[in-house]
Amino acid sequence: MSGSTWRNWAGNVQASPATVLTPRSVEEVSAAVRQAAAQGRTLRAAGTGHSFTPLVATDSVLLRPEGLTGLLRFGAGTATVAAGSMLHDVNVALHAQGLALANMGDITEQTVAGAIATGTHGTGRDSASLSAQVAGLEIVLADGSVVTCSRLHEPELFAAARLGLGAVGVVTAVTLDVVPSFLLHAVEEQRPLDDVLEGFADLAAANDHFELYWFPHTDRAMTKRNNRVGPGVGPAPLSRLRAWRDDELMSNTAFGLVCRAGRAAPRLVPTINRLSARAWGGRTYVDTSFRVFATSRRVRFTEQEYAVPRAALVPLLTELRELVDRFHISFPVEVRVAPADDVWLSPAYGRDTAWVAVHMFEHMRYAAYFAAVEERALAVGGRPHWGKLHTRDAAWCAASLPGYAQFTAVRDRVDPDRLFSNDHVRHVLGD
Ligand SMILES: Cc1cc2nc3c(=O)[nH]c(=O)nc-3n(C[C@H](O)[C@H](O)[C@H](O)COP(=O)(O)OP(=O)(O)OC[C@H]3O[C@@H](n4cnc5c(N)ncnc54)[C@H](O)[C@@H]3O)c2cc1C
Repeated sequence: MSGSTWRNWAGNVQASPATVLTPRSVEEVSAAVRQAAAQGRTLRAAGTGHSFTPLVATDSVLLRPEGLTGLLRFGAGTATVAAGSMLHDVNVALHAQGLALANMGDITEQTVAGAIATGTHGTGRDSASLSAQVAGLEIVLADGSVVTCSRLHEPELFAAARLGLGAVGVVTAVTLDVVPSFLLHAVEEQRPLDDVLEGFADLAAANDHFELYWFPHTDRAMTKRNNRVGPGVGPAPLSRLRAWRDDELMSNTAFGLVCRAGRAAPRLVPTINRLSARAWGGRTYVDTSFRVFATSRRVRFTEQEYAVPRAALVPLLTELRELVDRFHISFPVEVRVAPADDVWLSPAYGRDTAWVAVHMFEHMRYAAYFAAVEERALAVGGRPHWGKLHTRDAAWCAASLPGYAQFTAVRDRVDPDRLFSNDHVRHVLGD
């Protein structure tokens, strides 16, 4: 197929690839890669376009994910899925087998390969990003060869490819660590922001999955504490009406109207936010893990997220209080945690991390706000989420990321001609 336009979810990235292919087998991926290499073209693999950065954009060859889906096999504590499977479908298929992923982000519309390629994460005291939950990969390299890798077999390729920005090869199957299905007890309640920040270390340590949303221009934060239930505790999900009211009406329809009002009249944002914070009640329920982790997000936005050392969180949020006023920000600031991991390009590499995410409603100028937040996050040692907007380049990455040299050594070995590249990849990883 040729001549179609590709757009990401947020609508801030568009591309017109000369060739669009939807391979249905690893052999077809390999053939596409060999052909692109023989013609001296570049090739990018797409997931479902949920990255805000132009990682997928190409005017050359684009591989779509829809032909490579499904649960392939189980191992001891692992499940292997085709790389283009959507996380939502993986959750449902695993659940049918009494299995689950230990942790995930707050939506499940991404593909497995796309999610791991940028280090997609949720919040967790003990469980880290999806990239850290990968046990093995099948990947097509730039010469068209199909290689499997894991911690024991081709460990360096594995270390690079489980968070590879699509620059190491085309992942065709992913083996994920899985755990027995579990229920989460969700407690969501508003608290004064100062109290939450003062007790942040304890809250992060005392809960399996702790996160907070701070409503800008208010001193209120919505806290979410999700914990695995003990034996004998059964599900107590929200009623359908309550789930619809909270997750569709309030979080999407009403929130969308609030964002529109704020976009039309920025000076009213503090008042609007104070009213909306008041309307946002708490709730408690028990449900299957992935129904608690993930929600539906229909309000479109752009986003930046930085991983900072845990101890830097409170000083950083103190600075953000001044910034949200200056930029009339309506979107809640989201804070999550992750344990240190060992994935080379992971922003949580080697250190316990607090994630700070800032958002801007669609069609609003985000650059100045994101730049101001980025400057402050960098000042405390922040590292960017690769799928969310940032301005870091290869020189910064080389100087600031401990796993970067090892990553680029693998990239140089397996893709010396930079088949898997585009402008953004060159900016971040170098020529
Ligand atoms: C509404 C929304 C909510 C989000 N929530 C979270 C969250 O809670 N936590 C979080 O960390 N992030 C979150 N994100 C970001 C998102 O998870 C990441 O950007 C993720 O990478 C998107 O996956 P995708 O399938 O859409 O991949 P795409 O964005 O399409 O691609 C991402 C990268 O994956 C590569 N890729 C895709 N397929 C392959 C393949 N087969 N082989 C090799 N490389 C491949 C691409 O080349 C590209 O580099 C959110 C984004 C949105 C829009």
